[in-house]
Amino acid sequence: MYEISNLPRRSVAFIGSECHPFVKTGGLGDVMYALPRELVRLNCDVRVILPRYACIPKEYQDKMIYRGEFYMDMGMTNRNYYVGIMEYICDGVVYDFIDNQEFFSAGNPYINLVDDIPRYCFFSKAALAALNYMNWIPDIIHCHDWQAGLVPVYLRTLFKDTPVGRARSILTIHNLRFQGIYNIPTIQYWSGLPNEVFNMGALQQDWVNANMLKGGLAYADRITTVSGTYAYEIQTAEYGERLEGHLRYHSGKLRGIVNGIDYGMWNPETDPALAANYGLGNVLDHKMENKLALQKELGLEEDEGKFVIGLISRLTNQKGLDLVSAIIPQVLDGNTQVVVLGTGDKQYEDTFRYYEDTYRGTFSACIQYDEARAHRIYAGADALMVPSRFEPCGLTQLNAMHYGTIPIVRETGGLKDTVEPYNEYTGDGNGFTFDRYEAGLLLDAINRAKTVYFTNRYHWDEVVQRDMAKDVSWGNSARQYKDLYLELTPW
Ligand code: ADP
Repeated sequence: MYEISNLPRRSVAFIGSECHPFVKTGGLGDVMYALPRELVRLNCDVRVILPRYACIPKEYQDKMIYRGEFYMDMGMTNRNYYVGIMEYICDGVVYDFIDNQEFFSAGNPYINLVDDIPRYCFFSKAALAALNYMNWIPDIIHCHDWQAGLVPVYLRTLFKDTPVGRARSILTIHNLRFQGIYNIPTIQYWSGLPNEVFNMGALQQDWVNANMLKGGLAYADRITTVSGTYAYEIQTAEYGERLEGHLRYHSGKLRGIVNGIDYGMWNPETDPALAANYGLGNVLDHKMENKLALQKELGLEEDEGKFVIGLISRLTNQKGLDLVSAIIPQVLDGNTQVVVLGTGDKQYEDTFRYYEDTYRGTFSACIQYDEARAHRIYAGADALMVPSRFEPCGLTQLNAMHYGTIPIVRETGGLKDTVEPYNEYTGDGNGFTFDRYEAGLLLDAINRAKTVYFTNRYHWDEVVQRDMAKDVSWGNSARQYKDLYLELTPW
């Protein structure tokens, strides 16, 4: 047992564009929710600063309390903009929402770059101004992705001689694909940043464009990304999204810390969405009940002997869906069912609808975003495939393992760091993996999984139990972030 109060105390401001349960489009929303809560347990004082989007559910809007307001100039607009601060406190974490109807009245956090560039310039600057206004000066400012990429730049330029200027900054890359790139005059116009930061070592991307994430990486005191392998990969041309040289230059301050999952939100023993709750002790009995209930819910043939493979994903090019669509006819061999849950690019949505139509009773395409159904798939499927082209960390394989569902993954980014390949000789490992981005190799990994499932159920069940027992909680990761904070503030 350790006493929280014996741990060194640090104050941290999280600045980012989404956070469960207010607004979430992907893994970033999960991290912004879970990491602050875990840091509170490690004696950190955490404030999370978010835009007050109109799409935040009314139940949370109603609980927000007015904390103050001020006006802030912005770039070369020659205008003063309203900045309201609305506050909501939950489980020891303070959430401060930056209010401005002009920027945040849309129904969606991300619209298009024409609108997003000004709104996140505004948000990054307003977040720092709000900390000064509230006179709450954190030891660490922890920013996330390109939407908060200008924060470290502001901190060392326009805010250098203000109270918040003494904070140290960390920028976490959740997905390098999105960088906030736009022409230099526009970003200069909205951000009001001085000419000196628009050079090739910082914000400038090429002769015409500026890159908000690139600037943040140059000015942040530390850079993290969400797995060790991704930290390495983004320094290569294949994964670097044209920032590999910049990242190699700054590699001395770059490190990878793998994400966890929130055991409160993801717990098969108490999960209200499931047909039958289960834990490590009785997973082998109750997983079948969940499988049958899932088959019934989705109109699949109800047969506990079938091998059910799930896929829960945004349907985009990142997620390896061209591999999946290429092999579906071979995967559906009469003993196998496939369940897809996701929304995204029309080409993938249509492909999966086509397969549902063609293979009625064995293929289910749920083209929707449905959290409860996602939980039921994690519980009811035997395996979950994550064949991503690149995957900074990936949460679905962690959710799956925690629910006793074996991951079938490509060895990239966080998938490589969290899923140890099954060894058929020793029975060790957590899942089935393949390396190169090829449909045949995905099919091979699925077939290896099926072979163990159908011919060596004893070993399969051992892997199920090992995966459920594996620690994929936030505890470990939060401790590594706390160590990083202490490294930057060694008093
Ligand atoms: P990314 O952030 O790239 O979308 P992650 O694996 O990091 O991928 O996180 C995805 C998260 O979103 C997981 O918690 C997953 O369960 C959830 N998710 C993805 N698609 C859906 C969907 N269609 N319905 C419900 N939850 C989904």
